[in-house]
Amino acid sequence: MSDPSEALASAKAAADRLVKAKRLNACLTPTAPLRKSLLTQAQAAHPSGVLYGMPVAVKDNICTLEFTTTCGSKILEAYRSPYEATAVAKLKAAGALIAGKTNCDEFAMGSSTEHSTYGRTLHPFDKTRVPGGSSGGSAALVAVGAVPAALGSETGGSVRQPASLCGVVGIKPTYGRVSRYGLVAFGSSLDQIGVLGRSVHDAARVLSVISGRDPKDSTCEDRDPLRLPNVPESLQGFVIGIPKEYFPADLDPAVRRACDRAIRLCKELGAAVREVALPHTAYAVPTYYILAPAEASSNLARYDGARYGPRFDGSADVRALYRTTRGEGFGPEVRRRILLGTYVLSSGYYDAYYRKAQQMRALIAQDFRNAFDRGVDLLFTPTTPSPAFKAGEKLDDPVAMYLSDIFTVTANLAGLPAISLPIGRVKGLPLGGQFIGQAFLEDEMLEAAYALERVVPATEEA
Ligand code: GLN
Repeated sequence: MSDPSEALASAKAAADRLVKAKRLNACLTPTAPLRKSLLTQAQAAHPSGVLYGMPVAVKDNICTLEFTTTCGSKILEAYRSPYEATAVAKLKAAGALIAGKTNCDEFAMGSSTEHSTYGRTLHPFDKTRVPGGSSGGSAALVAVGAVPAALGSETGGSVRQPASLCGVVGIKPTYGRVSRYGLVAFGSSLDQIGVLGRSVHDAARVLSVISGRDPKDSTCEDRDPLRLPNVPESLQGFVIGIPKEYFPADLDPAVRRACDRAIRLCKELGAAVREVALPHTAYAVPTYYILAPAEASSNLARYDGARYGPRFDGSADVRALYRTTRGEGFGPEVRRRILLGTYVLSSGYYDAYYRKAQQMRALIAQDFRNAFDRGVDLLFTPTTPSPAFKAGEKLDDPVAMYLSDIFTVTANLAGLPAISLPIGRVKGLPLGGQFIGQAFLEDEMLEAAYALERVVPATEEA
């Protein structure tokens, strides 16, 4: 579209669809200001932009000028950022409309969107289940067609895991592909903004817009924006590795069937498929759950009641101010992570936990390099060990919750790009398959995803 009346119509239609999706508790922005902002944005949008008039919802841990940025936390209730994320600025420069802020686990810590102070988000097709997390609000909105794409964030799978559970596409770019400026920090060496979309193309074109250099983030690589590949006719010439550690004997049989079918389709498309070993995979979840909390405990020290958001009573002295603000402002999962992180970084435990985890992270990254050095172009795995689980099921068992990230945290630890796309249904619930690519070779990964997406019966039982 390039006509202002079309952009306005698109804004109105998006506002209507977002109202209809209200029951999911996926969007944290109240309806009236959201509608008003969408209309204002449509009037101001750049008609020549490649995303002109496209509504894109944004996870609530990414700073926007239009709306509050709460990170799903009470400690940032009503917080309005004085600046916006580079990814958001790039979307707006391309003519996209920021379609509200999406619900998420508090500070993106979680795998179910149940750890939000603002209530859980419902699974789009079964309200007794979770949409995954932490970008569950973004995934649910895309799944019901309220927006064609949404931004999420990944520290350990938070875009791909909800994409898998909700039946949409989720892309986590290479670390450094997209600026982190304005993404509220969780685990800075792992964090990347990612995209959820209705299709590979919708997600990929948003990714290409938000990618590329940014002088405001020194960890963002000095590269041009990602160029989108064409949809390939076949996968001739591609070598796809199947890491055996991602297909353990006790893998859910339906997940295995869906993956087997997808692998067969890749072969029919002309790809060569071979088994590979990533021997340190078993250590990925423990490694991640040492490093991510360690970085979080440091990053979240800034919420002290003096600088951001509300101040809970602590008039007695400054220590009381910290104690009450942090004690009342953070939810139980965030407090657990801060305690864990502080513990593994404390002198006496640093060598036993934090240093060991850093060493293991290097070995996990080396596993991937070894596979790619042996001629494999990309890897295919399940995205999640099961389809959407019941709300409440893992809430009191943090380790069970952490294990739902088993197939996704590895790409974050190694800094690699990965994409989840729907590959079938299990008892009516969506399930995703994942390609993991080589650093900064998103184009190859997208080609494989385009080709598989065209042939895989994504809405059929596996
Ligand atoms: N589920 C993981 C966690 O709780 C991943 C979160 C994320 O990627 N933001 O830490």
